[in-house]
Amino acid sequence: MDAEALRHYGHQVVDWIANYIQSVHTRPVLAQVKPGDIQDMLPSHPPSQGEEMDQILADVERIIVPGLTQWNSGRFMGYFGVTSAGPGILANMLEGAFNVSRMLWKTAPAATELEQVTLDWLRQMLGLPAPLFGMIHHNSAITNVLAAAREFVPGLHIRQQGLAGRKEMPRLRFYASEEAHSSLEKAAILLGLGLESLRKIETDDAYRINVEALDQAIREDLREGWWPFAVVATVGTTSTTSVDPVESIADLCERYGLWLHVDAAYAGVAALMPEKRWVLRGCERADSLSINPHKWLFTPFHCSVLYTRRPQALRATFSLTPDYLQNTESRSGQAINLMDYDTSLPHGFPALKLWMTLRYFGYDGLVANIAEHCRLARLFADWVEASSDWELLFPTHLSVVCFRAHPWTIQNEERLDHLNERVLNRVNASGRCFLSATRLKGRYTLRLAIGNLRTHEEEVHLAWNELHTALRQELGATPT
Ligand code: PLP
Repeated sequence: MDAEALRHYGHQVVDWIANYIQSVHTRPVLAQVKPGDIQDMLPSHPPSQGEEMDQILADVERIIVPGLTQWNSGRFMGYFGVTSAGPGILANMLEGAFNVSRMLWKTAPAATELEQVTLDWLRQMLGLPAPLFGMIHHNSAITNVLAAAREFVPGLHIRQQGLAGRKEMPRLRFYASEEAHSSLEKAAILLGLGLESLRKIETDDAYRINVEALDQAIREDLREGWWPFAVVATVGTTSTTSVDPVESIADLCERYGLWLHVDAAYAGVAALMPEKRWVLRGCERADSLSINPHKWLFTPFHCSVLYTRRPQALRATFSLTPDYLQNTESRSGQAINLMDYDTSLPHGFPALKLWMTLRYFGYDGLVANIAEHCRLARLFADWVEASSDWELLFPTHLSVVCFRAHPWTIQNEERLDHLNERVLNRVNASGRCFLSATRLKGRYTLRLAIGNLRTHEEEVHLAWNELHTALRQELGATPT
């Protein structure tokens, strides 16, 4: 494609994107397709001749877009609300144009240094103390963290000697609450530690880790020959957004010499708001901390930030320079080569979208939007509390509401579970808005998650009306 054609189609695509964003609320939020529909619409053989760009773009509109669940719609309120805002969309276009790999400083000096500066801006906005090394990953990078944490244990030398066949190797253990994210289990599998290496600790009534139970578990494991090496605290659990008591966990980690990682993937950015700064209390004592701007900081996927006070531990775990990547800057120690801190060569220029987002909104703009999301969630929670047919299942303190339908005519928990599942399926199938669900203490729980910049009071009202309609239809359909 020559420059003129790129200009022509580039303008066309930008126009299309602007129209799409403007009208995304008119599209069904949940893709109205069945498994296999999209495949059936696509040729099963690759093209032998190049095709016209007009035809390709027409197929994007005709086949791809209807097959998408519209995460970028203000009516998407499932899982955690996310936004790809304008600055990030434009940054992704530029990133595609530059197509750099920041494996070495010299292969992308601006990408490497902008990442350091931007993450230091974010650190300042979050009120975290310097120095803190930061790097952007595709996801929360818990596998990297646990690999570094176990390498940090004196005498194990797993990087060099591995785990297999070593009879003297203690059984390693790490801890998190039963509400922690499933990426921990995946990391344990991937690192060859096995699922048993993760000991899940019970939570209190507010779904926070029970620190006394954690202490007991560590002592018990020590007695039984396990080797505890890390604790993962969660600031903003996936189901409820509850916040573990990081300070008390940090005390334990210091006492037992354990690596403390804080998973603040969703809720970390709440600390931008002065009144919510408490969510990161104690995190200055963590060895590492992850926060995902691709969740609640209006930045498109992928942008997950890993901060650490111990970059040398990540280097000791991953640094490896083959002959073909030798470079004078690294030998002189003058420059950071980001490949030294990751499992694979870090391609791309992810700091660009975060930098452009932070500059476009500014601290005040970010705080205003996050605070508005919390207000909207509180408003919805108030409606739930005021209604005799619904109940809150967790006090709303950030931008997620956990609730369920609970008409007085139904008291049986199993029937309530089924009722709520059917209500959710009805609401989502309508395509008018999208919510998700979880289980809290065994109870099927609906979740309304606000985090999209296009979610306003109108969308929250719409969701509430849809829920009411679905409940009425279900109660009409199912004799109580
Ligand atoms: N941690 C928490 C608490 C989460 O809720 C999630 C996802 O929702 C993750 C980690 C993983 O997020 P990601 O894969 O975007 O890094």
